Amino acid sequence: MVKRIRRAAVLGSGVMGSGIAAHLANVGIPTLLLDIVPRELTKEEEAKGWTLEHKQVRNRLANQALERLLKQKPAPLMSKDNIALIETGNFEDDFHRLAEVDWIIEAVVEKLEVKKEVFARVDEVRTPGTIVSSNTSGISIAAMAEGRSDDFKKHFLGTHFFNPPRYLKLLEIIPTEHTDPDVVAYMKSFGEDVLGKGVVMAKDTPNFIANRIGTYGLLVTVREMMQGGYSVGEVDSVTGPLIGRPKSATFRTLDVVGLDTFVHVANNVYENVEGEEKEAFRVPEFMKTMLENGWLGSKSGQGFFVKQGKDILELNYVTMQYEPRKKLVTPAVEMAKQAKGAAAKLQTLVYADGDRAGTLLWNIIAPTLLYTARLVGEIADDIAAIDQAMKWGFGWEQGPFELWDAIGLEKSVRKMQSEGRDIPSWITDMLDDGATSFYKTENGRLFYYAPGGYKTVEENEKVIHIRRLKEARGVIKKNAGASLIDLGDDVALLEFHSPNNAIGADIVQMINEALEEVNRNYKGLVIGNQGKNFCVGANLAMMLMEAQDENFFELELAVRQFQQALLKMKYNPKPVVVAPFAMTLGGGAEVSLAASRIQAAAETYIGLVEVGVGLIPGGGGNKELYIKRLNSLPRGVDVDYVKIAASVFETIAMAKVSTSAAEARELGFLNHRDGITMNGDHLLYEAKQAVLSMYEEGYRPPVRKKVPVAGESGYAAMLLGAQSMFHSGYISEHDLKIAKKLAYVLAGGKVPYGTEVDEQYLLDLEREAFLSLIGEPKTQARMQHMLVKGKPLRN
Ligand code: NAD
Repeated sequence: MVKRIRRAAVLGSGVMGSGIAAHLANVGIPTLLLDIVPRELTKEEEAKGWTLEHKQVRNRLANQALERLLKQKPAPLMSKDNIALIETGNFEDDFHRLAEVDWIIEAVVEKLEVKKEVFARVDEVRTPGTIVSSNTSGISIAAMAEGRSDDFKKHFLGTHFFNPPRYLKLLEIIPTEHTDPDVVAYMKSFGEDVLGKGVVMAKDTPNFIANRIGTYGLLVTVREMMQGGYSVGEVDSVTGPLIGRPKSATFRTLDVVGLDTFVHVANNVYENVEGEEKEAFRVPEFMKTMLENGWLGSKSGQGFFVKQGKDILELNYVTMQYEPRKKLVTPAVEMAKQAKGAAAKLQTLVYADGDRAGTLLWNIIAPTLLYTARLVGEIADDIAAIDQAMKWGFGWEQGPFELWDAIGLEKSVRKMQSEGRDIPSWITDMLDDGATSFYKTENGRLFYYAPGGYKTVEENEKVIHIRRLKEARGVIKKNAGASLIDLGDDVALLEFHSPNNAIGADIVQMINEALEEVNRNYKGLVIGNQGKNFCVGANLAMMLMEAQDENFFELELAVRQFQQALLKMKYNPKPVVVAPFAMTLGGGAEVSLAASRIQAAAETYIGLVEVGVGLIPGGGGNKELYIKRLNSLPRGVDVDYVKIAASVFETIAMAKVSTSAAEARELGFLNHRDGITMNGDHLLYEAKQAVLSMYEEGYRPPVRKKVPVAGESGYAAMLLGAQSMFHSGYISEHDLKIAKKLAYVLAGGKVPYGTEVDEQYLLDLEREAFLSLIGEPKTQARMQHMLVKGKPLRN
C-alpha cells in the first residue's frame, strides 16, 4: 500500500521550494523546509557576534524564505497563520529528519549533478516507502534516479509545479518506467483532491508538456515578429485576451517569468533535440544581448518593457532602445473585437489574409498547432492532456486542439496545405476517416479524437460541468438571470448567469422559485455557477438608473424582495448550500451568508464592499455577519455585543475582502461548519455532498430567535473611531455619514444595550439606511464612477 502523505519535506527554499512549502501549509501538511548552509557570514551576523556554527546562520536561507513568504504578493499563504506549519532547517543538521516524512520534494538548482547528489543522500536517510519527487522544469527524471536503490526508484517521480504554486493550477506528474503505478495513481489523486491542482500526466521528455509547447510558441512569435517587422507592443496587443490568452500576452509574460529562466528552459530543449526542431529552440541574438545586459524583466526593472514615470515603453529590438508602446489596430482586429465568442473572433483573425494582425496570428498559430500535433504520443498520451496542460499552466482559455477546432480543422488544414506546410499524417488520416473535429460531446460527455476512434476524456469523478449537464438534461426552470438544474441524486442547482452574475430581479425571482421546487421535489439546493466570479454584487447600473429617476418605490420593493428571498432561504426546510469562489462581493456575499452552509473554493474573495459605492449592504448582510459572529462564540461565555458589532462594523466600513477562504473564516464570513474545497473544479460536487449529508442527518432549519444587539452604547462606541478619523482628515464627510448609518444598523438602533430584537426589525433598519443613502448625490456619484472607471471614488 502506498504511504499516505501526512508530513512533507521540501529541499531548496528558493522561489519554487518556498512556494511549494507554503502551499503544503495551505492544505494543512506540516512541512520541513531545508536549504544549504551558508559559507560566509553577513555583516549583520558578524555584528551580532555570530559564527558559522550559529543555528540562525546555518538555517539562514530557509529562514529568509519564510520571511519572504509573509511579504510576497500575491500571497503564497492563504492565511498568515499557516506559516506555523513550516519548520526550517538545513541540509547538514536536519537531513536525517527526512526519515520522518512521507513525501520529499526536491526544488534545488536546475543542475543534474546537484540533483543527483541530493538524491544520493536522500536515498541513505529516507524511510522505505517514502515518496520522493523532483520539481525540475525539464531535466530527465530517469537520469536523476540513476544509481538509486530499487525502493527509491519505485517511489520516485517528477512533480512539476508552476510558479506561483498556490495560484497556477497545473501540476505535471512524470513517472519513470520504475515508478510504482500505485504511487502514480496516489500522487494524481493527492494532487487533485488535496492540493487542488489540475494534474496532467506527462512523459519524461525535455521540458515535459506545457513548457515544451509554450517555449516553442513563444520563439515562433519572436521570429514572426522580426520577420514581419512588428514591434513588441504590437505583438502583445493581439496575442492576449483577443485570442483567449492572459492580459500579459507574450512579452509581458516573459518579463514576469524572467528572461534568464526562459532562456534556461529553451536551451534545455535546444540541447536535447535534433534537426529542424533544434533550430526552432535557438534563442535569437537580441535576446542574448538582453540577457548580457541584465534586462531580465520585472525582477531587474526592465525587459521587453520598462516603466518610465507613468508611461510604459517597449524595447525596439533593432536599436535596443526603448520607445513609446505601439498597438496593432487593423480592420481584422476591429472586427474580431465585435465578433461574439472565441471561435468567431479567432476565425475573423486567422483567415484575414493581407491584414497585418491576421497574418501575424496565422503565422504564429499555424506552426504551433502543427508542432503540437507532431508531439502527441511523444510528450503525452493524448490531445486532451496537452490541452489541459496549456490551459492550466499558461492560462490559455483554449488548448491548441480546442483552438484548432474553433478555427475549423478542415478549413485550416486546406490553408496550411496550400502554403506547403507539412501536416502530420495522423491528422490527414483523421480527416480521411471523416472525423472533422478533435472534440465532440454526446449526452453530456466529452470525447477526444485518438487514432482508431474517439475516446472519453477521463476526468476526476468530482468534476462537474454545468454546461454539459444542461446539454444532457436540460433545465428545470430558467429566466434571463438564472437557471435551475438537476444536479442528480435529488439535488438541484441554482446557477446565476446574468452579466457578471450581478443580482437583479430575475435572480431574486429564481431564488424563490428554486426554493419552492426544491421543497417539493428535491433533497436540497446548491447555489453555484462556473462563471469568472461567483457574483460581483447587485446590478449597480440598474439601481443607479432607478435612483437617478427617483424611483424610490421600485428600489424599496427590490431591496425588500431581495431581503425576503434570503430570509426565506435561511429558514428553508431543506438545506441550501452556497458555493462561492473567486470574487463574491456585496449581494454575492449576502447570498452566501444566508446559506444553511457555505462550501467555498479555497480561492474565494468575499466581502461586503458596498461602502465603496457609498452604500451599506441592503440584503441582510449586516445582520447576518453580526449573527454569524455571535453564533460562533462558545455558549456560556460572557458576550460583549459592542465588541462584536464593532468588529463587524470594521469589516464592512473598511470594505474588507478576504484573500482566500481561510481568511474569510478569520473575517467571520465562514464558520467552523462551513467547508473549504481546495480544487475549484470539485466545488459543485462537494457542495452537493454537503447537501446530501445534511439531508441524511435529518436537516432542520435554524430556529428563528430574537437577536441581542449593542444598542445606543454600541452606536456611540462604533462612531468614536469614525469621528476621530474624520477629524484627522482620513475620511470624508460623506464617509462619516455612511459610517453613522452603518453603526446605527449594526447597533440595532436607539435601544438599550442587550435588547433582543426581531430580524425583520433589523432588515427594516438596513433597508431604510440603504434607501436614504442611495438618494444622496455623492453616493450616486460613487456608483457612477464605479460603473465607468471600475474603481471607487473618494468624495
Ligand atoms: P532558486 O534559484 O530560487 O532556488 C534554488 C535553490 O537551490 C535555493 O534554495 C538554493 O539555495 C539551492 N541550492 C543552490 N545550490 C545548491 C546546491 N549545490 N545543493 C543544494 N541546493 C542548492 O530556483 P527555483 O526557481 O526555485 O528553481 C528550483 C527548481 O524548480 C529548479 O529545478 C527549477 O528548474 C524548477 N522550477 C522553477 C520554476 C520557476 O518558475 N522558477 C518553475 C517550475 C520549476
